[in-house]
Amino acid sequence: MELKKLFIITDFDHTITDKDSNSSWGVLESSTLLSKESRKECEKYKNYYMPIEKDCTISEEEKSKYMKQWLEKNLNIFIKSKLTEKEIDRVSSKKDCMKLRKGSKEFLKFTNKYQIPVIIISAGISNIIENFLKTNDLLFNNIYIVSNIIKYKEGYIKGFRNEAIHSLNKNEIKLPSKIEEIIKEKEKIVLLGDNVEDIYMIPKGRENNTFKIGFLNGHKNNRKKYNETFDIVYDDESFTNVIDILKNTHD
Ligand SMILES: [Mg+2]
Repeated sequence: MELKKLFIITDFDHTITDKDSNSSWGVLESSTLLSKESRKECEKYKNYYMPIEKDCTISEEEKSKYMKQWLEKNLNIFIKSKLTEKEIDRVSSKKDCMKLRKGSKEFLKFTNKYQIPVIIISAGISNIIENFLKTNDLLFNNIYIVSNIIKYKEGYIKGFRNEAIHSLNKNEIKLPSKIEEIIKEKEKIVLLGDNVEDIYMIPKGRENNTFKIGFLNGHKNNRKKYNETFDIVYDDESFTNVIDILKNTHD
């Protein structure tokens, strides 16, 4: 397998970023752009919904409902708080507003060097991911972000431009035709994620040509389910192994 026949589909939050990092939502949830009460409210939701997201025993249908609720509640807080584009850009352009997983930088640089397309499919917030990558000099021309895009009206956040993407509906995403065109000629996929539902990012019909890598991120109870779902399971290791896997596919 040659690298030029390969592309990567990856989750962003707690996959490209570290397991203890702020998520792209968290950048706003924890920022002083929100009042203390609103921050507390966001934290309360996080403490309630995050364990549900990570619970492999809850049915997908049920989980999907909860994830949608979580997203809407946070988004409403942002809208009520009248966050502006300027403010959002400012907080997400700080180099340390999130924390990269060890080796992520090297991994993204490697993909850029060999021009391997990297498609980030995220239930996070596109504007924030983009600003963060940019400020860390990692927004390369081989990186494509498919995520929730903030809609602004007169400079204020009003919602999302797209049908909301949450962690359970990544299978319903229609890739932009520009990306479809790029991956059409590629034969093999390497998928990276930290939720079992991240495997739904695999485009239909491509399941057999996908090598699936999952990060357990310390959720040891999920080990069995992750072993069943992914081809390789790492706990919260660095990206070094992933780079090695790519290198081994290099002719
Ligand atoms: Mg994730």
